[in-house]
Amino acid sequence: MNDLLTLTIASAHKKLATKEISARELTDAHIEHSIEKDKEVCAYVNTVFDEARAQADAIDEKIQFGDELSALAGIPVAIKDNILIKGHKATAASKILKDYSAPYDATVIKKLKAHDAIFMGKTNMDEFAMGSSTENSAFFPTKNPRDLSRVPGGSSGGSAAAVASNQAMYALGSDTGGSIRQPAAFCGVVGLKPTYGAVSRYGVMAMASSLDQIGPLTKTVEDAELVFRAIAGQDAYDATSAVSGKATAKKVLRSLTGARIGVPKEYFSVEGMDAEVRTTVEQAIQKMERVGAQIVEISLPHTAHAVPAYYIIMPAEVSSNLARYDGIKYGYSVYDANGDGVLEEVYRRSRSEGFGKEVKRRIMLGTYVLSAGYYDAHYKKAQQIRTKIKDDFVRAFEKVDMIVTPTTPTTAFRIGEKKDDPLAMYLADIFTVPANLAGLPAMSLPCGEVNGLPVGLQYIAPWWEEDTLFTLGKAFEQL
Ligand code: GLN
Repeated sequence: MNDLLTLTIASAHKKLATKEISARELTDAHIEHSIEKDKEVCAYVNTVFDEARAQADAIDEKIQFGDELSALAGIPVAIKDNILIKGHKATAASKILKDYSAPYDATVIKKLKAHDAIFMGKTNMDEFAMGSSTENSAFFPTKNPRDLSRVPGGSSGGSAAAVASNQAMYALGSDTGGSIRQPAAFCGVVGLKPTYGAVSRYGVMAMASSLDQIGPLTKTVEDAELVFRAIAGQDAYDATSAVSGKATAKKVLRSLTGARIGVPKEYFSVEGMDAEVRTTVEQAIQKMERVGAQIVEISLPHTAHAVPAYYIIMPAEVSSNLARYDGIKYGYSVYDANGDGVLEEVYRRSRSEGFGKEVKRRIMLGTYVLSAGYYDAHYKKAQQIRTKIKDDFVRAFEKVDMIVTPTTPTTAFRIGEKKDDPLAMYLADIFTVPANLAGLPAMSLPCGEVNGLPVGLQYIAPWWEEDTLFTLGKAFEQL
């Protein structure tokens, strides 16, 4: 394999800065590789390779002029297709947006442009980010680069697969209930969901606004940190974004030695947990203990209610957010149904034909739980549970600096295995949704393999303490 493909952001940056390599060489290497590789992986829904080459040339010119080089300058990146890049298609892998082009840049894209990032293209996903396997894409499924008969996870499956198969040096994804961390775990890369509010959501297509966050998928923790620093920050266009750095840490951690690591017992005894995945994660925890981490058994007693609460709150918000796709304002439109153009008929037919099965299921569920007679019984209850889950974490973080869990109960499953069993698919989100419900930063990092498939270790830190994830993540990689 071309050596340029194995570089991390950090190592490529050094070589670019010393002119050992050019941005064009780096970009060309990834493009040439991607043209072949993506025939089997199917990570991208759209590529913009000509633009990428031109961007690379422009950056090389800056380097020749001796301009200061940002950490991400000249580094090829892949973007999940629910994040807007002005003038590029943005489909969210839905038929309803199949021909939609973005009229403006998402804030994260504006920031990456300011860092001279090189955009390779848009990656496949579950339609509107609803799913855990990328099989809900309206276009085609993405394959796991580690085993093409398996799913890459989802919903940011294209982003994880692109990084894992060296078709981009990093990617952006979105995470509403695990959509960055779960595919990262399945594909053997690092995935970070930042604290709710740390990264602006302006220009990401809203799924469930109280849960969505944008974050990076990278090869190393160091790279995740570099990308996070570039995209984080308060934004006037997202009222829920906030100034980062409000960390409440009582002590600054510099290594695993002396760190108090909480291991929640509820995360190791769920139904459907693969015994070998559990063993692999337990071994990772023992490794941390051997270098002086203090392992503390903790309890997060409301864990079992996280998935049911999530699958009420999320669809409720989905049903509201997706109302805008009505066949008039955006995309796919059946205007001339029988030549009459009756408004309600336009809505009904555009949405019936434009949305896939899973999206419709969630719109209906969400509409139901918000309806007058059921609101108190379902939606309000779910919100109360959400508070309890948050309180569990508040109490846990009085005793520990960070929490460690498996990212997923199993390794990547086979394509088709769960496609027709939504409940089985939902239940597998058990370890990732609590961090979204509580708004906490969480990161998945590779910690071993079972039968040749990667296993993800999840770190969950207190609010605004991404630094803890990075410090202890890097320390773990060293082990
Ligand atoms: N798998 C979860 C779901 O289907 C998470 C999705 C996400 O984070 N976007 O809702």
